[in-house]
Amino acid sequence: MRRATSLLLFLSVVLIASPSAQGPPAWLDPYRENADKLIKAATADRFAWDRVAELTDTYGQRISGSDNLNRAIAWAVETMKKDGLENVHTERVMVPKWVRGAESLEITNPPHHVVPLLGLGGSVATPPAGIEAEVMVVASGDALTRRAAEAKGKIVLFNVPYTNYGETVAYRSGGARMAAQYGAVAALVRAVGPVGLRTPHTGGMNYGDDTVGKIPTAAIPVEDSLRIQRLTNRGIKVRLRLKMEAHFDADVESFNVVGEIRGSEKPEEIVLVGGHFDSWDTGAGASDDGVGCVVTWEAARLMKTLNIRPKRTVRVVLFTNEENGTRGGNGYRDQHANEAANHVMAFESDSGVFAPARLGFSGSDAARRIIAEISTLLTPLGLQDVGTGGGGADIGPIATLGKVPMMAYSGDATKYFTIHHTPADTVDRIEPAEVSKAAAAIAAMIYVVADMPQGLPK
Ligand SMILES: [Zn+2]
Repeated sequence: MRRATSLLLFLSVVLIASPSAQGPPAWLDPYRENADKLIKAATADRFAWDRVAELTDTYGQRISGSDNLNRAIAWAVETMKKDGLENVHTERVMVPKWVRGAESLEITNPPHHVVPLLGLGGSVATPPAGIEAEVMVVASGDALTRRAAEAKGKIVLFNVPYTNYGETVAYRSGGARMAAQYGAVAALVRAVGPVGLRTPHTGGMNYGDDTVGKIPTAAIPVEDSLRIQRLTNRGIKVRLRLKMEAHFDADVESFNVVGEIRGSEKPEEIVLVGGHFDSWDTGAGASDDGVGCVVTWEAARLMKTLNIRPKRTVRVVLFTNEENGTRGGNGYRDQHANEAANHVMAFESDSGVFAPARLGFSGSDAARRIIAEISTLLTPLGLQDVGTGGGGADIGPIATLGKVPMMAYSGDATKYFTIHHTPADTVDRIEPAEVSKAAAAIAAMIYVVADMPQGLPK
């Protein structure tokens, strides 16, 4: 009996002392209890989902420069203070104010069909009477180049099948410029999304330099794009009338919202975590990116609730103006340039929380090994292994300046991009358990990175 006990003791000491490929390494043992507490607290209820619902039900869409965004920012400051976060404050940045105005699109030949549309962010207006012209349908930029001589005076429709967001979005961003250089009078883009529910998807576009004129541009649903394609395939000259009032007002002030858990030993070292608080002016900005703000904010709130204070400072930032300017992310970099190198890690959630979700990391191999080790504490959440693709538009500027490793929480892309920048981006499409899971994973990961003895290697 005694002999068996000693043998067991000996074996357990050996097992704990020698980290193996099978189990979590021993250096994580001191973190297990608090990580478990954070995970349990986050997944015990639907607090985080309720907060996304409160934000999106009360304030709705939050485009830069809107009263909705201003009121939501004031609410976030008050709510962070009620949560007991520390050093809660706003940081001012000037943001563009693009105003959609009224807009409409109809097929006038063959008459008469109304087509749902969403002007693209940054587009100019049509003349008040609208633009009526024959449509020219192309499936790619190359096709447009081959038929360039036909484009003059036409409305070019880019009926480009969705492959992935990165590839297809090039037509949303640059389609107007491509068409304008050949004399087109307007550009339409098939909605950038994998599945059509007759939802146009808005989003940012840019005209580039001023060497070609600016023409109005909008997105139309996949279904309408295919219909116009079929009509033209039958040799019918389809005519469209487009009316848009889109314009920019002067820049207005907006704010990043900041709240912290100050570090107990190295408060000057910062683990940055956040999402963007603005949205497009359609839907309610729930998956893009109300939920990202809430699940990252939860890291600090849960630590406060559980009285967990890591050695380094955990700083939550709800960035303004990601969608049409990135002025929030750039402003944060400029205002915190002197402490850029003190950022140990930057974490952004801006890809929704739809299952299956995963954590992504960008940084050195040495840092990646540590992150993979920490992720063994997240096993109860059933996430996939930590992948590539850490980063985000808002944390990119400070991370570039400070050479800071980055992480992201990324939900299933097909579900996310189906509703992305559409009226369908609402909270009811998000499962409460997935929001809790994201909050749990982020809180536990951030806690260990903020508290571990060594910094994360750059
Ligand atoms: Zn976003």
